[in-house]
Amino acid sequence: MFDTLTLQKQLVEAALPSGFERGVGKVLAELAAPFADEVSSDALGNVICHKKGTGDKIMLAAHMDVIGFMVTFIDEKGYLRFETIGGHTPAFLHRTPIRFENGLHGVIMCENWADESKKNLNDVRLNSLYIDIGAGSREEAEKLVSIGDVAVFSGEPCEQNGMVLTPYADNLVSCIVLLKTMEALKSSPYDLYFVFTAQEEVGLRGAGTAAYGIHPDMAIAVDICGTGDTLSQSDAYLDVKLGKGATVKIRDASLICNPQMVEFLRKGAERASVPYQDEILLSGGTDAGSIQRVHGGILSGGVSIPTRNTHSPREIYSLNDVEGAVKILVSSLSE
Ligand SMILES: [Zn+2]
Repeated sequence: MFDTLTLQKQLVEAALPSGFERGVGKVLAELAAPFADEVSSDALGNVICHKKGTGDKIMLAAHMDVIGFMVTFIDEKGYLRFETIGGHTPAFLHRTPIRFENGLHGVIMCENWADESKKNLNDVRLNSLYIDIGAGSREEAEKLVSIGDVAVFSGEPCEQNGMVLTPYADNLVSCIVLLKTMEALKSSPYDLYFVFTAQEEVGLRGAGTAAYGIHPDMAIAVDICGTGDTLSQSDAYLDVKLGKGATVKIRDASLICNPQMVEFLRKGAERASVPYQDEILLSGGTDAGSIQRVHGGILSGGVSIPTRNTHSPREIYSLNDVEGAVKILVSSLSE
């Protein structure tokens, strides 16, 4: 049986930023293959697992790309300048350990941090940040890394007290939810497509393409959502708590879910007697936002895993919420 922490470790190891997610796609395709009739991929790198049925087509989407960094310039001293991939706040990146695709490690530092930190932290600019890989010159650095190379947060997932602390809960945990749903689903009246999507973090790009190809009747995006139980003021009016159940999405910044889909998922949760939370996410979006708008429009909704500290190297989610999400999906797809 799929174990969440084991899978989280395996996927974190393979994870790369948007546009470079083929490695993790390959791992996911292999893990999903025993539970699918057909596994394919498209030009954007979406991995599409088809579990054939005769009823309405339902597409489930979980993005497998993660946020990260791309080297843009190597200076005389051997320090690297970079561009971000996906949503980062530059000031938060100071002193962040990172790992390149080839296994090289580095740390993001900020020039003149003493001056920079006196500013409003939102004003800290990306161009004051650099990556230190321990090289002493451009020649030395160029032996280790090239312009265009990509990097991710470095860090090992761990579990304590039923919670998983890890880089890239967003959104590898939802890829795990899809795998566990495929494993647990005995039979379904639907024609099911489980899709691990590419390039969500740079504008929900892969999911729209996949949905155009599949042309489902309904779609469910599985993603993480923020929680209102942190000390961050921007989360203050989020009525979602860590560990109190997966959420059924009502809206976020990318879509207003079709009420039919909210009902469909709530009914699934109620049939399975699983607690769930209503999700209204004030900022941030998910794959359903692009799926909903293809062809003549696709009925779209979402299930999310409450996650603290999103887009940080230590996101936190609850193992119970993962099990809850799987139960909601299995129950919804079974009838
Ligand atoms: Zn996400």
